[in-house]
Amino acid sequence: MKTKTPVVLIMLICLVFPLTGQDFNELISKEVSGSVEAAGLMYRELHQNPELSLQEFKTAARMARLLDDLGFEVTTGVGGNGVVGVLRNGTGPVIMLRTDMDALPVKETTGLPWASKVTVTDSQGLETPVMHACGHDFHMTVWHGTLSTLVSLRNRWHGTIIAVAQPAEEVSGGSEQMIKDGLYSRFPVPDYALCYHVSPDLPAGTTGYCPGPIFAGVKSVDIKVFGIGGHGAMPHKTIDPIVLSAKIILDYQTIVSREINPVSPAVVTVGSIHGGTKHNIIPGEVDMKLTIRFFTDDVYRQIISALRRIANGQAVAAGLKEEMMPLITTGSEYTPPVENDPELVSLASASMASVLGKENVIRVDPSTVAEDFGKYGRTPEKVKIALFWLGGVNRTKYFESIEKGTMLPALHSSNFAPDFEPAYTTGVTAMSRAMMDLFNSK
Ligand SMILES: [Zn+2]
Ligand SMILES: [Zn+2]
Repeated sequence: MKTKTPVVLIMLICLVFPLTGQDFNELISKEVSGSVEAAGLMYRELHQNPELSLQEFKTAARMARLLDDLGFEVTTGVGGNGVVGVLRNGTGPVIMLRTDMDALPVKETTGLPWASKVTVTDSQGLETPVMHACGHDFHMTVWHGTLSTLVSLRNRWHGTIIAVAQPAEEVSGGSEQMIKDGLYSRFPVPDYALCYHVSPDLPAGTTGYCPGPIFAGVKSVDIKVFGIGGHGAMPHKTIDPIVLSAKIILDYQTIVSREINPVSPAVVTVGSIHGGTKHNIIPGEVDMKLTIRFFTDDVYRQIISALRRIANGQAVAAGLKEEMMPLITTGSEYTPPVENDPELVSLASASMASVLGKENVIRVDPSTVAEDFGKYGRTPEKVKIALFWLGGVNRTKYFESIEKGTMLPALHSSNFAPDFEPAYTTGVTAMSRAMMDLFNSK
């Protein structure tokens, strides 16, 4: 006959001797090692079935099913293909954990047995290969692993989890669409929002943190430079927009080097210039496409104003009239910098260090790439956000690359492939510990 005495005894012991950090680590590590095999299968399946931005239909349905299985209240179709799961577990902090879901139009060349062979027909009717070349398949797997761990250990923490599976990160509209569709009004407003991005530069077994801005803001700018076209043999009867564009481009090089405060990093890149049709015709206009990167709103405004001032100044110097000033359009899309909350980074990275070891939680410099996670922290609700890098490089390859100076495949490369098992284990362990500590901090 069974007796209930041992259970009561254990509960009493737990009350008298609360769990220490070490006990938490052991509990988490047991959960994670039990989930790694199934997670590996899930990762490979997601990798073999990538979907482009705004087409994440099957992926979103799968994320919704997984959340449902874990006992979350699930809402689909939030801002397009977005999925939100809410798990209430007593009074305490509300923490949002976000993954992205979309893949890229890249033809995979990793040669791995689970490499993507998917192609789709795009809106122009062209066959496009699709690959999870930015690791969003890996993010989903680590996200699910962390949520499962927290659900299994739900008697060890109190609070509410908001699980967000976001579409369209690569086209930078997903987070904004989810916010516009009521992420912070239809669901509890998070105290904290957390996420990972897999790192192509850090070894598996580590995470990377950066207090303050970690990713740059980005804005695309289009410029149409006007001129007066004519015969290539008679330039004196024209105002050559190609020469004018060349002067504008050269002057743009002084925005960052001479105008922006040197301690504020920024980038102005002219990525495309197109004008003219033939050797001997001076065209009437030239089109340029630029990307600009910045870490503060002030620097953003300073760059935009300098782009206009320089273009107009050079156009006047070339002899163009007021109505023929260059046309500068910035569009409405704007990806702000990802501004990590320093206090949240400090709390979460300390928790990560307590389970991974200090040497495996690495402070990193900000990067000029962009991520639309920053928008979650830019609403009137002032949610504190933190994005962490999760080391994805096979350790042997990592040290080999340092020794031999070889390049590792970057994000968006057709050869990008994280070292699944150690990176997954590290990611789930570190994030579970960080979230449990945050939940138990209030
Ligand atoms: Zn990407
Ligand atoms: Zn990405």
